[in-house]
Amino acid sequence: MFCALRKQSRACIKRCLVGLSLLASASWAQPPQSLIVFIGDGMGPSYTSAYRYFADDPATEAKETTVFDQLLVGMARTYPGDKTLVTDSAASATALAAGVKTYNGAIGLNVNKERVEGLLEAAKKRGYITGVVATSTVTHATPAAFLVHVQSRQSYAKIADEILDDRINDKPKVDLLFGGGRKDFVRKDRDLVAEFRKLGYGYFTELSQLEQINQLPVLGLFAEEALPHVIDSGQLHLEAMTRRALNLLQSEHAGRGRPFFLLVEASQIDWCGHANDIACAMHEMRDAAATLSLLKEFVDRHPDSLLVATADHGTGGLSMGANNRYEWDVESVRRLGASASRIARELLAAGENWPLVWQSLTGIRLESREHQGMQQLLDRAKTLVAEGATDSQREIVRKGVVNLTLALINQRSHTGWTTRGHTGEDVQLFAWGRGREDFIGHLNNTDIAKRLHARLPALADSEEKSR
Ligand SMILES: [Zn+2]
Repeated sequence: MFCALRKQSRACIKRCLVGLSLLASASWAQPPQSLIVFIGDGMGPSYTSAYRYFADDPATEAKETTVFDQLLVGMARTYPGDKTLVTDSAASATALAAGVKTYNGAIGLNVNKERVEGLLEAAKKRGYITGVVATSTVTHATPAAFLVHVQSRQSYAKIADEILDDRINDKPKVDLLFGGGRKDFVRKDRDLVAEFRKLGYGYFTELSQLEQINQLPVLGLFAEEALPHVIDSGQLHLEAMTRRALNLLQSEHAGRGRPFFLLVEASQIDWCGHANDIACAMHEMRDAAATLSLLKEFVDRHPDSLLVATADHGTGGLSMGANNRYEWDVESVRRLGASASRIARELLAAGENWPLVWQSLTGIRLESREHQGMQQLLDRAKTLVAEGATDSQREIVRKGVVNLTLALINQRSHTGWTTRGHTGEDVQLFAWGRGREDFIGHLNNTDIAKRLHARLPALADSEEKSR
């Protein structure tokens, strides 16, 4: 009896092994996988560190880790293809899309201004469904470098034109495009939205319509320019757009059996960094963290997919601790209820009541010298309005109010900044899902793209499959 059982199990194991080897040789055993690239624009290591303490639950003694801590696999070098060592978003996004170092300002071109193939188009050629989500205009440097090939990042109208005109198999390369930037698509000289619609694209302009979007291809341009800052709108727009994008891409994937490529950019961490506005940056990080958690959960549910996340560079030279103080007062950052530019706008509109507005939006108690300084600026602004001053004269005073607000926030919270521009330190690399181990270590940003390109199936094979 025992022997018979053993014999049977041996036969069974043999059958199983034959079955497994057949599985391994069958093309569908390793189907092309869905790839998700997440870029936190300007999200250098000091941002993820600061966010850990900003997000920490003060009721517990532990400093809880964040999704960034959980996904960390390495670091990446960001220097561009010129001599500056400090990259801009265009050169860095081109490196992350195409695996090529280039000059600052280049969108999908190498140093000789020749086209270099990015991940989105390489994926599209292999039959992937493609999507891009950003909180900037979709013509901004990072999304643009994944979509088109243009000599200067400033050529927004040209970039929008190319999103429609630069095609693969006579179709636009992107099946789902969510973000801001209507002004670049509906212009006096050309109505790109009408042309997209003629090609069968759905078109949506309100974020409240996200749930109504139920098929691809689709263009969602949810603002004339960029979407509002998280701290000012109170909304996690990136998370909401990414949730809808994942639903649409996954159901298309299930329906048509094609994998998808998705680029998600947390665009405005960088802008808050350029403004040296710590609360603005931390709230953008809140949206970035929520979006990354959502993407991680998606990969957990679809373990054949791969998520790779990084930053394109650091911005602002942010430091926790400044002016020789061994302290970062995160509580004072948490109390801030608006970006410095919105605080300034509200102070200028408040008249006599400005101290109440200041208190409710900043929670900062002003010393009499500080109070006087702000009062003088606001009085000057009032006088300029009464005198019918030009916009540019009034703008100088508005900037004065913004700068005094920022100086007080940074001084109270002991937040340091060294520049209004970008910085050249290495950035972090995060990965989750099948193939995560390929990204462990200290990589060049171009290696990230090369390793992702290597995960795309051979062209002839996939063309056959998509037929
Ligand atoms: Zn920037």
